[in-house]
Amino acid sequence: MTETQQRDAEPVRLVIMGGGTAGWMAAAALSQYFSNALNITLIESEAIGTVGVGEATIPQIRLFNTGLGIDEAEFVRATAGTFKLGIEFVDWHRKGSSYIHGFGDVGAKVGLVPFYHYWLRYRAEGGNRDIDQLSLNVLAARARRFGRSGRQAGIVRSLPYAYHFDALHYAAYLRRYAEQRGVMRREGRVVAAEQDTESGDITALSLESGETIAGDFFIDCSGFRGFLIGETLGSDYQDWSHWLPCDRAVAMPTTGDGRLEPFTRSTARGAGWQWHIPLQHRTGNGHVYCSAYMDSDAATQILLDNAPGDRLAEPRHLRFTTGKRREVWKNNCVALGLSSGFLEPLESTSIHLIQTGLARLMALFPGRQRAPHLIAEYNAQADEEYAAIRDFLILHYHATERDDTEFWRYCRTMAVPDSLQHKLDMFRSSGQIIRQHQELFDVTSWLQVMWGQGERAGAYHPMVDAVPAEELQSVVSKVAQDNVQQCNRLPVHANYIAENCAV
Ligand code: FAD
Repeated sequence: MTETQQRDAEPVRLVIMGGGTAGWMAAAALSQYFSNALNITLIESEAIGTVGVGEATIPQIRLFNTGLGIDEAEFVRATAGTFKLGIEFVDWHRKGSSYIHGFGDVGAKVGLVPFYHYWLRYRAEGGNRDIDQLSLNVLAARARRFGRSGRQAGIVRSLPYAYHFDALHYAAYLRRYAEQRGVMRREGRVVAAEQDTESGDITALSLESGETIAGDFFIDCSGFRGFLIGETLGSDYQDWSHWLPCDRAVAMPTTGDGRLEPFTRSTARGAGWQWHIPLQHRTGNGHVYCSAYMDSDAATQILLDNAPGDRLAEPRHLRFTTGKRREVWKNNCVALGLSSGFLEPLESTSIHLIQTGLARLMALFPGRQRAPHLIAEYNAQADEEYAAIRDFLILHYHATERDDTEFWRYCRTMAVPDSLQHKLDMFRSSGQIIRQHQELFDVTSWLQVMWGQGERAGAYHPMVDAVPAEELQSVVSKVAQDNVQQCNRLPVHANYIAENCAV
């Protein structure tokens, strides 16, 4: 066997730099799916620590957990988690307003066009059932109920859900999982990356201790700093803060308020918004704000004044720039998590982006080959995915009646990306919501947020006129009545947790 053949027969040496949520998600998934094909080392530094936030998710995380064979009750218990049916947006449209972006269906499948077109006509003809009544998730969230669908319980409508969890417990949980599958963890601070002088590929990472860890492929999970993808390989950062201007957060856990709501709450403030994430053992609170319009003392005071329960730690300050690395995969290194970019946490999409980045990497994994086409494909898909989520986030800020502060006046009058303007124009003129390619948020998400933010459709789809008026009334009423019945059969969220997965 030649030296090259012998090397090719050995597992690829994969080095993950960073042990936050991104690093351990990567280690867990790759050790599960690639087992003997990869020899995985993860380097993390306790002295540097992790960002320590990131506690709300979207339903796709359940696919990640299922793929890893994780038992849900054990997982929720280990992470002090709760269930999440959507996000409530308070004061976003105007002060005093509230709507919920619920996961799952709005209405039912009745024809070729989405249900909401039928509802638009129903409203145009004087019907008074509002959009909340069409979503089981929204009704259940408001009633603080949660349960798994199943015929025995008489709950037949699907109730898509995600989790809230303690970010530190989550990383620890995945660490145990990955180490059991052979991932080697090295403690220490990386101080330099060695590169091949011709290709620029990374060949090894040097630790402060003097140790060197060689690898064939590297995943940069080093957080905002982007040690490998940015500082070493020079992939620059596309700054989107002219569209999403919030650039600071102050976070602080408090004791629970006992309500255990099955949803995240986002309350708009004068120069940003505040999150409320109920966990079993505490509440996660944070204030995301724009430093051009508010200083950190004022932002902290707003958080202190509005966080429920007793303080469990001092407020912690974070800085970020919304945007994305131009090349998320460069040479033999892929960036995952905060090193790849950051879309602020308004719709809890960052952990999901780690998940899709990983799925994409697994689908396009290059082994030892140099792979310019795989890299180009990966980066093109990442571009599209990020831009679609970016537009959805901008929608929340831009489509508002709020003009009570400089910040809100800026957001409502700023120019938005053409792709978002097109979506708004389509809805305003014809009531159409178009989902591009594989974009994350579907028609019902766009509908709920546009409607909640005060956007109104100029028309409904003409096909709906084929339905007789009485039938239309009865279809909408039946969906609303079914939802109420289904909702009433669901357990109270707190009871469901107490019976199934309490810490
Ligand atoms: P980090 O947690 O920062 O981890 C970086 C790792 O790299 C650490 O282990 C660190 O020790 C290591 N490291 C760095 N430099 C070195 C070095 N030189 N040597 C060795 N090791 C090193 N996401 C959601 O999905 N939902 C949310 O609700 C949500 N809320 C958020 C709120 C805020 C305010 C912010 C800022 C983010 C939020 N996120 C949220 C994003 C989420 O927190 C991150 O996507 C997630 O935690 C992944 O972070 P990470 O692992 O990339 O980085």
